[in-house]
Amino acid sequence: MSDQESLPPLVDTHAHLEDERFRGEVDAIIARAKAVGMVRVLVVGTTPEDSRACLERARLEPLLAPAVGLHPTHLADLPDDAFEQIAALAQDPLVVAIGETGLDDYWKEVPLTAQIPSLRKHLALSRQTGKPIVLHCRDAAIPLMAELEADYQANGPVAGVLHSFCGDLAQAQQALAMGLYLSFSGMITQKGNQALRDIAAQIPQDRLLVETDSPYLAPRPHRGQRNEPAFVRHTCQMLAECLGLAYPEMAQATTNNAKRLFRL
Ligand SMILES: [Zn+2]
Repeated sequence: MSDQESLPPLVDTHAHLEDERFRGEVDAIIARAKAVGMVRVLVVGTTPEDSRACLERARLEPLLAPAVGLHPTHLADLPDDAFEQIAALAQDPLVVAIGETGLDDYWKEVPLTAQIPSLRKHLALSRQTGKPIVLHCRDAAIPLMAELEADYQANGPVAGVLHSFCGDLAQAQQALAMGLYLSFSGMITQKGNQALRDIAAQIPQDRLLVETDSPYLAPRPHRGQRNEPAFVRHTCQMLAECLGLAYPEMAQATTNNAKRLFRL
């Protein structure tokens, strides 16, 4: 067995490798990810163009599993048929998830009244394709949970994940009750974020995922740097400490969860 095979397996469930900050370096980044035990990386699309690039790169690199969607903050500058392009890409058998979608009331580039119809279309596409939904939330937990609850009451559970979770315990429990997974990013490693660690400690082990959200949200000890999938091991280490588990157990549990949710 090589060193790589003996490492606990990791899945980074959220990375943006088509970001311009990675241009020309993706092969090296993938090699570094494999060297820390990475078995899959979800590459998450934000526009039709970005989603298509995620899919095309995944055709060439089996480590990568693509998700296709329209990020709520990117809805302003898209072609009229943007969602139709996403729906067409979503039919490709390589695509494992729908998103990222969600709600964002932080950047104020797109009003929530424009984001909500897009979220609803992504939820319907997730149900139609049977592929789980990847949900973004920033400063919009109340309207997002209301949308998810209304959808749940009308249509029953949808498979999916609240990515880079940073809500409160009540929101976590509401999401869990609807059957959703929670994915933790480098935010959980920040010194001032004990509240988030306390929440993570109360999440059932079989609903936890880890992610980088590369190139954003680098975990300690890389804070302030460009993030990359290999750094997800620091987030997994912190999550292990929150739950009182050894790192290999946490890595295996989050990997099992990612494989179950995304059918990897
Ligand atoms: Zn993202």
